[in-house]
Amino acid sequence: MRDQFSTEELVARAKKVLPGPQSNLRVPINIRPMFIVRGAGARLWDTDGKEYVDFMIAAGPGILGHGHPEHVAALHQQLDQLLYSVSGATQTPMEVELAEKFQRHVPCAERTRFALSGTEAVQLAIRLARAYTGRRIFIRFEGHYNGWLDNVLGGVVHEDPVTNPHPYEGEGDPLGTAGRDPAAFEQCFRLPWNDAEVLEKVLERYPEQVALIHMEPINVNGGCILPRPGYLERVRELSSRFGVVLSFDEVITGFRVALGGAQEVYGVKPDLATYGKALAAGVPIAAVAGKAAIMDQLLEGKVVGAGTFNGYPLGIRAALTTVSILEKEDGAIYRRVDEIQKRLMEGLHEIGTRRGIHHLIQGCRGVFLFHFTDLEKAWSVRDLTKANHQLQHRFRVNLAQEGVLIMWGGRWYVSAALTDQDIERTLEAADRALARL
Ligand code: PLP
Repeated sequence: MRDQFSTEELVARAKKVLPGPQSNLRVPINIRPMFIVRGAGARLWDTDGKEYVDFMIAAGPGILGHGHPEHVAALHQQLDQLLYSVSGATQTPMEVELAEKFQRHVPCAERTRFALSGTEAVQLAIRLARAYTGRRIFIRFEGHYNGWLDNVLGGVVHEDPVTNPHPYEGEGDPLGTAGRDPAAFEQCFRLPWNDAEVLEKVLERYPEQVALIHMEPINVNGGCILPRPGYLERVRELSSRFGVVLSFDEVITGFRVALGGAQEVYGVKPDLATYGKALAAGVPIAAVAGKAAIMDQLLEGKVVGAGTFNGYPLGIRAALTTVSILEKEDGAIYRRVDEIQKRLMEGLHEIGTRRGIHHLIQGCRGVFLFHFTDLEKAWSVRDLTKANHQLQHRFRVNLAQEGVLIMWGGRWYVSAALTDQDIERTLEAADRALARL
């Protein structure tokens, strides 16, 4: 089906009114502009009428696929009540219900505050930790992404991060940006991840300065890198020993890897956790969950966490419905995701091997990467610097031409909507895409 818009015409019109697609990083994406007009299940259609199997799935949120009937029905029902939005200062019963679901599933969630984007949730976690500890610095990690604001975006890690823990703005940093407040990096340290020794040395050297350690418990943004065995436990122990708040950034892993997120999977309980993306399966909503003693600073008015749309009914309804769907039959959807993902990963491995391509397929439930490398395992973004990023880029472009969309950087998000036919079609496309590298 060809859409009423011509792609060429839209490219020309867009150039005059839009400064590019709506979310950008320093590195140009370098693919032909694409205008999506429709989605259903795991498929998307663009203005050329071309059909794609979708592994971008809205950059993470679309865990149920596009247009899950129960999700859509709940949204319609909410719209029919003509209650899309109430002031963040009034409440709906649904907020209580959703926070109760957090408490039931997420180990650290004694209290939950809702927001709109993961970026906001992370900033609230930083403020809560500072207020709680009376300290300023927060620690974040190389290869992690925690939102686009000045104090969390990119920054190059120094050669010796123990003596020089603040990051700096470097030309080659893909997450660098012009226009940053030069003082932004004074508030944070940035350290190599999966390295408990460095973290311990930094905490020993700067005691009484660090308010918060904030990390992706699985470094999905760095290339689907898992924590080393025992690493999260060490981080937990160090945080407690030095009186530092520990926050897991579960914006990607939350509700994707399990109902209780990575903290459930690894059995390590942080003090705070931030949520977004999959929580409402494509409708914007985010959250900070955590220990009552820290979160109740909001209740007391000691800490401000404001937002016109915080807790808006449409988002809360979307989240409640998503979590209810994920809860069904003791997590049947997660089992389905595991089954699909296994076939996909095994299929890609078979094709890569048959074609003599050195590769490493690495990930967790619901998201993985096909790295062009001869490494057997990657434990950090540093390990992956030698992976062939050019091949990765060409693979992605070829896949798009073959009707399969994966994320910039090569990430594959697996949605529960993928059918057996989608998988077959994807593996055939991947075979052709790899053949044309
Ligand atoms: N934290 C992590 C781990 C993320 O991956 C992202 C977004 O990709 C964010 C925070 C920021 O979330 P948002 O884009 O909703 O502001």
